[in-house]
Amino acid sequence: MTDDAATAPTCLARGLSGSVGDPGGRGADGRPRHAAALTFFWGPMDCGKSTMALQMNYNHARQGRRGLVTTRIDRSLGPQVTTRIGLAHTAIEVTDTLDLRTLVRQARDDGVRVDYLICDEASFYEVAHVEQMAELVDRYDVDVYAFGLATDFRSCLFPAAQRLFELADKVARIQVEVLCWCGREGLLNARVVDGEVVRSGAQVVIGDTVPTGQVRYQVLCRRHHRTGDLGGQ
Ligand SMILES: [Zn+2]
Repeated sequence: MTDDAATAPTCLARGLSGSVGDPGGRGADGRPRHAAALTFFWGPMDCGKSTMALQMNYNHARQGRRGLVTTRIDRSLGPQVTTRIGLAHTAIEVTDTLDLRTLVRQARDDGVRVDYLICDEASFYEVAHVEQMAELVDRYDVDVYAFGLATDFRSCLFPAAQRLFELADKVARIQVEVLCWCGREGLLNARVVDGEVVRSGAQVVIGDTVPTGQVRYQVLCRRHHRTGDLGGQ
């Protein structure tokens, strides 16, 4: 496992150079020129995961590659990837019963090439979906780029994120700095209900960083996540 943002451009460059015009081709040494990979980009809220997901999709599409974008529980609560800086892209909503392999097979049956998948909000997927991602890489030569949170509001790994750490060819922490109110690096997502940090409850409760309802989330450093100090906000 690597934990190095520098892997992102390398991965992208490899994916682009290896697949265009010569899919499945082999080099002189007999090794596949293009070997698809499962990559997991992770970070706390507000670190730009969805923005990076859409940028990745744009970069690949510009090079003539074809892909699908999936999401689950996007902040818009609709079948699209939206970002806090205002970008949006239609996406396929991943339900409990959706099989990512079937999705790719059906697209190919319809004559749509699928070179890659962009899986946003992947920590909210089922573990089975992560297994399907790995199979898509290994058997279908589809690059899979998964983006998501690592940990929940209790600072425990989401099951799908854990499986991604276990299975991914590459793991990269997104390095866009998110700061706690104290100025330290923001690392963990706190769930705030009625102004208090809570530590029990369902793993996924929809809210946002904007305090529009009873539940909201706030990125804190480990120290202040531990003490529950919201800095008077
Ligand atoms: Zn802090």
